Amino acid sequence: MHCDYHVHTEFSNDCNVPMHEQCLAAIAAGIHQIAFTEHEENNPREYLPFSFDHPAYMDELSACRTRFGARLTIRAGIEISEPHRYSAETARVLACYPWDFVLGSMHWLDADTNTNSRDFFTRYGGWRDGFHAYFSAMYTMARDGDFDILAHMDYPARYGKPYFGDTYDIRDFETEIRAVLAMLIARDKGIEINTASLRKRLSSACPPQPVIDWYKEMGGIRLTLGSDAHLARDVGADLAIARHMAQAAGFTHITLYDHRIPTQVKIE
Ligand SMILES: [Zn+2]
Ligand SMILES: [Zn+2]
Repeated sequence: MHCDYHVHTEFSNDCNVPMHEQCLAAIAAGIHQIAFTEHEENNPREYLPFSFDHPAYMDELSACRTRFGARLTIRAGIEISEPHRYSAETARVLACYPWDFVLGSMHWLDADTNTNSRDFFTRYGGWRDGFHAYFSAMYTMARDGDFDILAHMDYPARYGKPYFGDTYDIRDFETEIRAVLAMLIARDKGIEINTASLRKRLSSACPPQPVIDWYKEMGGIRLTLGSDAHLARDVGADLAIARHMAQAAGFTHITLYDHRIPTQVKIE
């Protein structure tokens, strides 16, 4: 079974593709199960109003399930930024609708610092210090956030090439990352392999192989694969690479979610 557990539609303000077109793209790409994970941003400094119309999303999801249900299993997902920092808002939205799957993302290091910004890479005197701060802060999210899977673990790497060139090595942050992974495992939460970075000409999916290896070695089992597609042509992109990374680390199964209940399915 091939699954893409990180896809956006026009319900996310940085995506223009209708949900039914993403469903058709998924079917064409050989995907059997998809989770639409729309952006839920609560930081008032976010440059776009990123919360989405939840009732309209649920209606469209129902319509797509009716239309494509025989060919595609569609999961109701949401990608919440910093769920620990906006815990009241997060609790409200999670309680109101029947979500299948919740991604927790750290797009903002703190209320003022977007990790795609120049400020993030330079304010601490160097990009390495920014990353140390990022993974340290991620521990709090892993401990306190309500989500199922921690999304794109080294997200700032997508934007850091102008600052770090070819010198970025995830192993420089092993101590902080292992602390995050241990907390996720203790709470039965997991990580994803996100292939969007490959489309940004980075050498690795996100996070890179060493993190997948550490997670497996530490006893982690909850793993999802996602393209983070914002375009129809990107649905399912490079998921074969993600599967190979999982298998290289020793994983035989990935995780699927239904009403936020995880089940393990064999990697094919
Ligand atoms: Zn994201
Ligand atoms: Zn996303």
